[in-house]
Amino acid sequence: MVSRVIPVDPFDLVIFGGTGDLAKRKILPGLYRRFLAGQIPSDSAIIGAARADMDDAGFRDLARAAIVEFVAADRIDDTVLAAFIERLSYVSIDAQGSGGWSALKKKMRKNTVRAFYFSVAPSLFGDLAERLHGHGIADEDSRIVVEKPFGRDLASARELNAVLARHFAEGQIYRIDHYLGKETVQNLMAVRFANILFEPLWKSEYVDHVQITVAETVGVDGRGAYYDKSGAMRDMVQNHMMQLLCLIAMEPPYHFDPDAVRDEKLKVIRALDPVLPEDIVRGQYLAGSGQGGYRDHAGDAASRTESYIALKVNISNWRWKGTPFYLRTGKRLRARTSEIAITFREPPHSIFDDAEGWRENVLVIRLQPNEGMNLMVMIKEPGPGGMRLTQVPLDMSFATVLGEEGEDIPDAYERLIMDVIRGNQTLFMRGDEVEAAWAWTDPIIEGWEKRGDRPRGYDPGSSGPEDALMLMHRDGRRWREIRE
Ligand code: NAP
Repeated sequence: MVSRVIPVDPFDLVIFGGTGDLAKRKILPGLYRRFLAGQIPSDSAIIGAARADMDDAGFRDLARAAIVEFVAADRIDDTVLAAFIERLSYVSIDAQGSGGWSALKKKMRKNTVRAFYFSVAPSLFGDLAERLHGHGIADEDSRIVVEKPFGRDLASARELNAVLARHFAEGQIYRIDHYLGKETVQNLMAVRFANILFEPLWKSEYVDHVQITVAETVGVDGRGAYYDKSGAMRDMVQNHMMQLLCLIAMEPPYHFDPDAVRDEKLKVIRALDPVLPEDIVRGQYLAGSGQGGYRDHAGDAASRTESYIALKVNISNWRWKGTPFYLRTGKRLRARTSEIAITFREPPHSIFDDAEGWRENVLVIRLQPNEGMNLMVMIKEPGPGGMRLTQVPLDMSFATVLGEEGEDIPDAYERLIMDVIRGNQTLFMRGDEVEAAWAWTDPIIEGWEKRGDRPRGYDPGSSGPEDALMLMHRDGRRWREIRE
């Protein structure tokens, strides 16, 4: 299968924080890969900006080293890499200072798409927005890309939105949630809305429940103090998992168009019920296997921040009333895996005697590893032993189905940056969506803080706290096994 690479228009992209971790691990390698794929015209310019005193050659060396480190060796083509590196330059700018802006302005070309990636702390977003305007560098066609975290509660998210809105229209602001750039996440929409098979069944009448799991094997060592200020609810649920839930639960948009899609997601967030205390389980990983526990890594022996959370979420609308969505995410778990599992209800009547062999149909959408989909269906067990049933997966791994193209699925950042250049906001969060997500999240966090709830300890390498199992057992259901 041949995937089409449609080149974008030539652009000038300024990466504020161009020397930082995100730029080195994701943005610069991602841009190189798109350049290699022929999607970035060779007259585009990428300008790194940060406070460090560095010249173009220094930035190019930094970028080359980052690309060699973070791009697979078989994708490094020395000639292409040299041509890409030539597109790079650097300006030394303090987001809060006055130097460097006129040098940046001189670099920007007329009649070329202008994008500004704010890969810096959110506390600098306002300073950057103000100076880009004040110095006449951004115009009404320019785009800005802002990174997570977008606020830590409703008040701070509103403040950030207001700061950006002073200088940029909503149509110019690209709030990144890299989960939305994942191939499978977009496939979720394709599967639902480009096939007749699933949509008629996509409602509480036929869906028993939905499980969304994002499990990591890593802990927070190295960034424990930072993580301790947020926790799993703020770091994963409010943004990434909320987006996944929205894409599963939303009504069909009238068109695959940024505002049509985002309007439907917003309606889902607004229909979420408050979460009851008994429907929340929080956990912290304990020390084990020669490694410290969460509290050691956080540097706070009394920390109550969760490295794991499981929630039962109800959506009060016609489609989903009576179908719970169970969400769980955590660190130091058994395996690194992200998946959405849609479990269908029992058939109304069984004509077979083999009740024991019967299992529910489950549609599993794997985000990582091995992006793909799996539909668990019942068939007859092979052999002459009568009509016994067994469940088998209809397995579709994108890498296998799409051949070489599938093995080279663009990273989420690559796709999203190209969308910014194209001016397509469909896979970016709108300001009102982010605020609605915080409006749902805030009372949950305030609730456990007020009650003084303590997270339960769980063993590293496990599936999380025991109580999380009960959250499902209580409802006569069980979590899917966490495995790669
Ligand atoms: P980082 O490694 O600390 O890099 C920060 C960058 O900002 C550096 O280039 C730094 O260079 C520059 N900077 C700091 N203060 C500045 C100022 N006053 N003016 C201009 N530039 C300044 O941070 P990061 O991990 O790359 O994260 C960047 C943003 O992405 C943050 O908002 C973070 O939350 C978000 N994010 C990061 C990741 C990730 O995987 N790293 C993932 C998701 C979201 P100088 O010190 O030389 O100025």
